[in-house]
This record gives sequence, structure tokens and C-alpha cells, in this order.
Amino acid sequence: MVNTLLEVVKIRVAFFDRDGTIIEDYPDEKWSSITAPEFVSNSINTLQKVQEKGYKIIIITNQYLINEGYITLQQYEQINKLMIERLSSQGIKVLDVFYCPHRRDEGCNCIKPRTGMIYKAINKYSNIDINQSFMIGDSKADINLAINLNMKGFGIGVDATDPRIKKLDNLKDLISYI
Ligand SMILES: [Mg+2]
Ligand SMILES: [Zn+2]
Repeated sequence: MVNTLLEVVKIRVAFFDRDGTIIEDYPDEKWSSITAPEFVSNSINTLQKVQEKGYKIIIITNQYLINEGYITLQQYEQINKLMIERLSSQGIKVLDVFYCPHRRDEGCNCIKPRTGMIYKAINKYSNIDINQSFMIGDSKADINLAINLNMKGFGIGVDATDPRIKKLDNLKDLISYI
């Protein structure tokens, strides 16, 4: 007989990049004047479908804009708060958001494609099944993060030769591969 008390329920996670994937991205200087998120077309719909397929959603975002002085931490938090409120109003639950505030020349271990943020997530949610999870984003750093973790990855408009990575022309195409 199975002892249910000893069973660990594993979770599958869709690790999403934020800027350029869920909400619009801008040149670094322009971020200084952005006060509210603009959603990428199809992103809300895609997140809903990803959730329906049983994935938990975790956002993994490089925010070197903070320590490089383009935006303040408060500006970052404000954009994030508005984004999460809007997603929540559409029935999308974001399990967590991990961000790297460090400058690109700071040498931290969390800036993508380094693996620090995903390890933080795994430490916090020890039931993440990394083999059933994936990373998706619109830059080389996102797919290289997936490669560095030997995880499945999707690059939106990003070419990849690695067999673990699938190039997508549009975010919404993700649904046919998961
Ligand atoms: Mg991006
Ligand atoms: Zn960092």
C-alpha cells in the first residue's frame, strides 16, 4: 500500500523571462521613463494555456537596469506589481519572481545565463521536477541558461543548434510543444 504521507508531489515549472517575453522590452535608456507594463501580444493567452497544461509559472528576469542606474528598485517593483495584478485578474497565478539586480560587470552568479536564480527557485521549492520543466525567453541568455541546466528551452526568435532548444517564431507557438 502506498503511504501517501511519504509521497512528494512534484511540480512542473514554466520558467518565463519577463521583458520581451511577457511584457514589452525597451532600450535600456527608455526603461527610465516606463511606469506601467505593456503586454506582449498573446502573452496573457499563452500563460493561461501553460497554466491549464499543469505548469506552475516562475519568472526569471535580469534587471541589471537597477544596479546600472537606469531604474530604481522601486520602479522595478512597481512594474512587477502592476504586471502581477493584471495577470491575476486574468486568472494567472505567478508562483514566484526571481530577479538579478546586478550590473553586467559585477560578476554575480545569478545573471542569466548563469544559473543562480534557478537554483534559488529549486532551493525554495524543493519539489520542482527540473526534467519536466522548461525555460522560455527572447534572448540568447535565456536559452543558454536552459543549456547550462540541461533543461528544455524555447527561444522566441532566437536561433539554436542545441537539441534541447526549440526556436519559436511566436510565443503562442509554445503551446503546441508542451
Ligand atoms: Mg527578454
Ligand atoms: Zn545577479
